[in-house]
Amino acid sequence: MRSSQFFLPTLRENPAEAEIVSHRLMLRAGMVRQASAGIYSWLPLGFKVLKNVERIVREEQDRAGCQEVLMPTIQSADLWRESGRYDAYGKEMLRIKDRREREMLYGPTNEEQITQIFRDSIRSYREVPKMLYHIQWKFRDEVRPRFGVMRGREFLMKDAYSFDMDYEGARRAYNKFFVAYLRTFARMGMRAIPMEADTGPIGGNLSHEFIVLADTGESQVYCDREFLDFDVLGKDINYADPAAVEKVVNHFTSLYARTDEKNDQAAFEQQVPEARRYVGRGIEVGHIFYFGTKYSEPLKAQVQDKDGNPVTIHMGSYGIGVSRMPAAIIEASHDDNGIIWPETVAPFRVGLINIKVDDKAGTAMAEDIYAKLNNAGVEVLYDDRDERAGAKFAEMDLIGLPWQLVVGPRGAAKGQVEMKNRKTGEKVELSVDAVLQRLGA
Ligand code: ATP
Ligand code: MG
Repeated sequence: MRSSQFFLPTLRENPAEAEIVSHRLMLRAGMVRQASAGIYSWLPLGFKVLKNVERIVREEQDRAGCQEVLMPTIQSADLWRESGRYDAYGKEMLRIKDRREREMLYGPTNEEQITQIFRDSIRSYREVPKMLYHIQWKFRDEVRPRFGVMRGREFLMKDAYSFDMDYEGARRAYNKFFVAYLRTFARMGMRAIPMEADTGPIGGNLSHEFIVLADTGESQVYCDREFLDFDVLGKDINYADPAAVEKVVNHFTSLYARTDEKNDQAAFEQQVPEARRYVGRGIEVGHIFYFGTKYSEPLKAQVQDKDGNPVTIHMGSYGIGVSRMPAAIIEASHDDNGIIWPETVAPFRVGLINIKVDDKAGTAMAEDIYAKLNNAGVEVLYDDRDERAGAKFAEMDLIGLPWQLVVGPRGAAKGQVEMKNRKTGEKVELSVDAVLQRLGA
């Protein structure tokens, strides 16, 4: 993509309405624009990141054996009356009437919808277990939408649901999601720590919030540093082997990790040696929950067991804040000059700057690199505009592409390009061939 053609409305000044760094940077980098309170449009740069996040989430759900569906955004009020949540949900739910005065709603979540689908289709224990997910927009009329896409009213969520015959089966499903979440966030370059969360009246210990560490996060966290060193991507996890999955889960659940809501300082100090205590801040990016028969009971989702007896299905739900994720990543990965994208979610892998567009040798070199990267399938944003070099550098740093290539008259004369790592700031002078080789092109 050429900057001269790309729709990238960057802002030089910090927008006054943005209170946190990710919101400021997302507006300044031209990633999103507010449509109305808590409702955003995603512009090309932001949308590319959102799609990368979505892709990683999808790949890890698929890998864990979860199957993708797509449920509607609009649901019927009657379905929610069956679970009793239509009245209970309150003002967060956006209620709508169609032309026949039928009550509808814009889904804030999909437990009822998925339970209906399951109940109408599955009859026998032979078709269980099942895990289904979708990635869909939700609407919650939050009292205080704020921090841009971090707490929106309309937001994109991955929500998955598991169906099992009993608690043991549900626990195995829970474990799979637990591991899939560790992998998902790690692939985005994030440390997301599973923290024991409230399970509500059903009790048990089966709810975890996944918290990405970021100094600017909303929650205070207390955890064992072991979490920071564990390399889940290095582990070869076979989801078909429940014992292997359980082992990873047990490792984590045996370590202390609580947000301030649930922290018990005495227990923290007793369980974690001082050198391993980590106190910091974080952002909730995912939440997994086993809730038993909470919805299957009122919605009568039953299947027949081996002996032909009806069994009420055990369920869990598993959310990831897909549209919150780009903001959470920025909170965890930025500096004074702008965003620092991890390679896996970056909107382009490379930013190519031609310092002086009226220099023949430099422009020929930049065009050559641009064509070769494109041919090799390396995503590159090529700043070919007739602008001040300083402004180009500042914009590249702001939008945070992992690699910057700088071509100027002096280097071009020697056949050299400058390659800068956005994260470390490290710069090297290389030949065009060497640059292409480093980028795998
Ligand atoms: P919170 O406690 O932040 O209000 P929640 O418990 O209501 O979240 P869940 O229903 O567990 O959220 O939703 C799953 C995930 O969706 C959350 O972990 C979060 O990442 C994301 N999410 C929830 N509400 C919002 C929102 N208003 N805007 C953006 N993402 C959200
Ligand atoms: Mg939650």
